[in-house]
Amino acid sequence: MKTDVLIVGAGPTGLALALSLKKAGIDCIVVERRLDIQNTSRAAVIHAHTLDVLEELGVTRPLIENGLKLTRFCMRDRSQKLLQLNFDKLPTGHPFLLMIPQDRTERILLEALLEAGGAVFWGSAAEAIEQTPEGVTARIAGTGSGIIQARYAVGADGMNSLVRQAAGIGFAGGTYEESFILADVDIQWPLGQSEVSLFLSPEGMVVVAPLPQENRYRIVAAVDVASEHPQIADIQTLINTRGPESDIEIRSMIWSSRFRVHHRVAEHYREGRLFLMGDAAHVHSPAGGQGMNTGLVDACFLGRILADVISGRCDERHLDRYEFKRKPAAEEVLRITGRLMGMATMQNIVKRRARNIVLRIMDRLPPLKHKLEMNLSGLSRKHAARI
Ligand SMILES: Cc1cc2nc3c(=O)[nH]c(=O)nc-3n(C[C@H](O)[C@H](O)[C@H](O)COP(=O)(O)OP(=O)(O)OC[C@H]3O[C@@H](n4cnc5c(N)ncnc54)[C@H](O)[C@@H]3O)c2cc1C
Repeated sequence: MKTDVLIVGAGPTGLALALSLKKAGIDCIVVERRLDIQNTSRAAVIHAHTLDVLEELGVTRPLIENGLKLTRFCMRDRSQKLLQLNFDKLPTGHPFLLMIPQDRTERILLEALLEAGGAVFWGSAAEAIEQTPEGVTARIAGTGSGIIQARYAVGADGMNSLVRQAAGIGFAGGTYEESFILADVDIQWPLGQSEVSLFLSPEGMVVVAPLPQENRYRIVAAVDVASEHPQIADIQTLINTRGPESDIEIRSMIWSSRFRVHHRVAEHYREGRLFLMGDAAHVHSPAGGQGMNTGLVDACFLGRILADVISGRCDERHLDRYEFKRKPAAEEVLRITGRLMGMATMQNIVKRRARNIVLRIMDRLPPLKHKLEMNLSGLSRKHAARI
């Protein structure tokens, strides 16, 4: 089988790239080792800048229709407010945080891809990839087994990317010591569905973020040791000891998981005819909900650049714009999420007190707050989405 672009992985970034190429009239094949979209929600927020960029794929409106708009992000120490950020005055067509589970985002991208005439080869894993000056050859195992020849191949294949290994690109960085617990729960939450709250209590941090369903919330907490399958009692303890000082009962748990967090950026985003994007190119802490967002902007940018070259509008040198623009954007995201992580997981009591004082002072400084709002919404990296 022959194609212009082989995309390995049908996570959010692979689907977005395929959609971008299809809309530009470029032939592509997506291979995905899973049999369908993974029904765990993982990324729960889409930021303003991502929604602005996704307009070109025509998916912003269905995403908004399926999500929950919030305009506040608030840092608290138990019941006390420290710093509140507001997203409703930002210079964007979408001045809010859109809460929407990742599987729903992927479903919307997939439906748009099918509508544009694209497809995903589910149950098909890339096993080996080689490139020559003329093209790329991939050996596929599973449902769509065989050989695929392409002009270019893109690794949208997550943190343990085969494409990155085939390209011989390093993935420097490290792993945070803490483990993370993540759970979606039904809870009578005293703050209602009005804000994303980050509690910086003496016992540690916990994030509580509303999801589109009534009374449904995403809980994320950093812990020293996490059980493999956190139980409802574990989440209840986290809320009791780190959340607001009031009686809050978790009524049911939809799912939970435990994970470790890495902070790494690929040394290069391109090696000849092989490209990396999304988690294959950068991973970092979920603080600030930036991972999928950065990957979706990578996908739209790479889609435009590949379409320009394949259609003959630009020569191959144009492809270098991808790493030039998108790698610094990921490095900035790593710096921001690293700082947020450091602040949220601070152990020393004196440092924690000083942090809370600084946050309260920042709450009274609008220019500083605006800078943080621009960073979190991705709008400060708007220039990195323009070719
Ligand atoms: C617990 C958790 C919470 C998170 N919260 C947020 C958040 O709030 N906000 C945010 O923006 N991000 C968040 N993220 C990050 C976000 O989930 C990822 O950044 C996003 O999924 C990356 O998308 P991707 O398409 O690059 O890779 P992935 O989603 O990892 O998809 C890669 C795909 O490639 C497939 N694949 C791999 N190898 C092969 C192969 N050889 N052949 C064929 N297919 C292959 C895999 O099966 C997979 O489907 C979170 C992540 C986790 C784990």
